[in-house]
Amino acid sequence: MSESDRTRCRCALLNVMSGEVAREYLRYHLEVERTDGMGRKVHRCDESGVSWVEERRPSGYGGDVIVLRRLAD
Ligand SMILES: [Zn+2]
Repeated sequence: MSESDRTRCRCALLNVMSGEVAREYLRYHLEVERTDGMGRKVHRCDESGVSWVEERRPSGYGGDVIVLRRLAD
């Protein structure tokens, strides 16, 4: 994946992403904004103003899979 693909804003296009795609999006595109009432991290895109909640799911292979869900305004 190129650097521009990693950082390109897809917040308006996607509702959910998971795994490696979600991990890279978190790292390169989003900023941590707050933690919600259930202890989940909420991340925000400065470019679009869209917020994403980070969830973890067991992968079945010993680690967790990151799932990002876009929050409705
Ligand atoms: Zn974005």
